[in-house]
Amino acid sequence: SGGAAPSLPDPPVKVFVRIRPSTGPGSLDWDVKKASDDSLSVGDRKFIFDSVFDSKSAQEDVFQLVGIPLVNDALMGYSTSILAYGQTGTGKTYTMWGPPSAMVEGASSNGLQGIVPRIFQMLFSKIQQEQENSDGRQFNYQCRCSFLEIYNEKIGDLLDPNKRNLEIRDDPKHGFYVDNLTEEYVTNYEDVTQILIKGLSSRKVGATSTNSKSSRSHIVFTCIIESWCKETSSKCFGSSKSSRISLIDLAGFEKTILDDAGKQCLKEGKFVKKSTSQLGYLVNSLAERSHSGSPEALPYGSSCLTHLLRESLGGNAKLSVICTISPDKKYSGETVSTLRFGQRAK
Ligand code: ADP
Ligand code: MG
Repeated sequence: SGGAAPSLPDPPVKVFVRIRPSTGPGSLDWDVKKASDDSLSVGDRKFIFDSVFDSKSAQEDVFQLVGIPLVNDALMGYSTSILAYGQTGTGKTYTMWGPPSAMVEGASSNGLQGIVPRIFQMLFSKIQQEQENSDGRQFNYQCRCSFLEIYNEKIGDLLDPNKRNLEIRDDPKHGFYVDNLTEEYVTNYEDVTQILIKGLSSRKVGATSTNSKSSRSHIVFTCIIESWCKETSSKCFGSSKSSRISLIDLAGFEKTILDDAGKQCLKEGKFVKKSTSQLGYLVNSLAERSHSGSPEALPYGSSCLTHLLRESLGGNAKLSVICTISPDKKYSGETVSTLRFGQRAK
């Protein structure tokens, strides 16, 4: 920090694609591959994004390009979000959180830590550095986290599974918030990983015939960082900053949920479809705003997900969308539809 502001502001929305390793035999008439750092070819069609990660990319590569800028932006006071979008089984959960064991092992793990634990490792180490380097501890930080799930348009608290059907409320002072949602104060990486592991283990998981563990819920992990300067002798005295990090792992949007898993799945699919299409519209408008520069209100839609994202995506917001895809031919329809979602967001 302390450097000059960049002359060209970053766009509010960046879109990344990650191709997972293949799980089946290759196919002669279907070929998905990274063509350059920022493009991908699907047969003879080419799609351009901010960056493309291929199946050999490591968790650390994704962190370098998506996570580090997020931490820097968050510490500057931006609202920052990452949204993982893609069909079930393409690596949203892997990319965002990674295996719980890797979170616990931290830096000494085998490198499988997802982007979220890496973000908090860096965030707390930066806060600590800043406090050590500035004599007199100019800024004080307070961070609090929540973790929720949206399942069939109902909000559940992942940190307290007894709290279900929570309501979104609008408050003139604090904006949109989820009433009665658990918030836990965190001061270090271990605090955050404990919350992540607890929340992820209470996520709803349903079995369907196409995927043994198909997640039909959206989950949103939020960390609010407040900082203020309390040193009366310092130039910054009285100033404060507040920013929000939102990390969103979406439900798989695939439509073909076969019937033998029960009718419930058809209903779930409808809710997922409605909220993801409203989300697409919202993200698209956010991206467009940078082109037109008009401050008009964004279309927040009527789904829980898009309502919740008001505080994350309004105002001074930066969003990274990570689209996850499979290279396998049998998922070609879902792959193209994911890439289209990503293109609309650019
Ligand atoms: P999703 O959350 O999109 O449904 P998951 O993250 O659960 O998908 O991934 C499905 C399986 O594939 C998991 O076993 C995961 O470890 C593995 N996987 C996904 N992406 C990758 C990747 N890029 N590299 C290695 N394994 C992956
Ligand atoms: Mg998942």
